[in-house]
Amino acid sequence: MKKIHNFSAGPSILPASVLQKASEAIINFNGTGLSVLEVSHRSKEFVAVMEEARSLALELLGLQNQGYQALFLQGGASMEFLRVPMNLLPEGGKAAYLETGTWAQSAIKEAKNFGEVEVVASSKEANFNHIPKGYHIPEDAAYFHCTSNNTIFGTQMKEFPNTNVPMICDMSSDIFSRVLDFSEFGLIYAGAQKNMGPAGTTLVVVKEDLLGKTNRTIPNILNYQQHISKESMYNTPSVYAVYVSLLTMQWIKAQGGVATVEKLNEEKAALLYQEIDRNPCFVGTANHEDRSLMNACFLLQDETLKEKFDALWKEAGISGINGHRSVGGYRASIYNAMPIESVKVLVEVMQALEKSI
Ligand SMILES: *Cc1c(COP(=O)(O)O)cnc(C)c1O
Repeated sequence: MKKIHNFSAGPSILPASVLQKASEAIINFNGTGLSVLEVSHRSKEFVAVMEEARSLALELLGLQNQGYQALFLQGGASMEFLRVPMNLLPEGGKAAYLETGTWAQSAIKEAKNFGEVEVVASSKEANFNHIPKGYHIPEDAAYFHCTSNNTIFGTQMKEFPNTNVPMICDMSSDIFSRVLDFSEFGLIYAGAQKNMGPAGTTLVVVKEDLLGKTNRTIPNILNYQQHISKESMYNTPSVYAVYVSLLTMQWIKAQGGVATVEKLNEEKAALLYQEIDRNPCFVGTANHEDRSLMNACFLLQDETLKEKFDALWKEAGISGINGHRSVGGYRASIYNAMPIESVKVLVEVMQALEKSI
């Protein structure tokens, strides 16, 4: 089989060793003789998976024994767009949102179903090519919501505001990719399929003392407190997605943890952005200081080279670098599992295009 370099934005690349273990568990899960696809979620083997996944998520974020709970829920990150305001925005209350891209806009839209939403800043007028700075978060907001990495536009928050208002963050596309002081956040959520596992589960890390304050009747399936009291087994969890997410978290830990992975992510991104900036055939779309370490967006300077460039990268075994329709051009997603060798292949292809003209 020809080596494929998977730059897909999501669902996306997983470590080869994780795929190997995940495929073995489909036939024989932890020596049970059963497939992980056919075991009860109440079996002791899967209960152990869920317990380890929940505790390892907190460990990787440095949030153990600080009043946080980790959950593996369903409905994608999109479900959290509504579950967050439903659980945290009191009747008649107000929430503050930072509008940095398409996903942030979806989160804002859902929150408006539950109360007043104040958009504290937006980069919409510039097609979200940067992260707004210097905005004010109203003291009376129930929470402030932001998106740490804007998967579609290739921008990433390097700094977070200093505020007493609880911070809620959609980290779908940069979870476990860099070290932050995660205790600054009241709730973090991340759909698994960008940087953690297959599609089908969402990690939610929530500080328990923020919950139960809305006066609203919350249906059980949407209620974080229900999921916490049932240890993330309120209903049948997405067994396989949780299992593969656990394998990825174990892989991150074995690499040396998030700090080690971050160093590699910085190297990979530096290599690619250097080439985007150096090579006269290309131009990056995001403001330099806000560039994402996870999704690098770039355009051809001369659109007539498109056919030639596309043929070159396809020939090199590169997959998934077409840009999102709202930006155009190309987007190379270089998540945790992406080896630097694959980034080098892309850089070589970009250089080959330059030489060919
Ligand atoms: C992909 C993505 C989403 C949407 O995730 P779903 O699991 O499809 O609902 C939300 N936020 C960000 C930042 C994303 O990258």
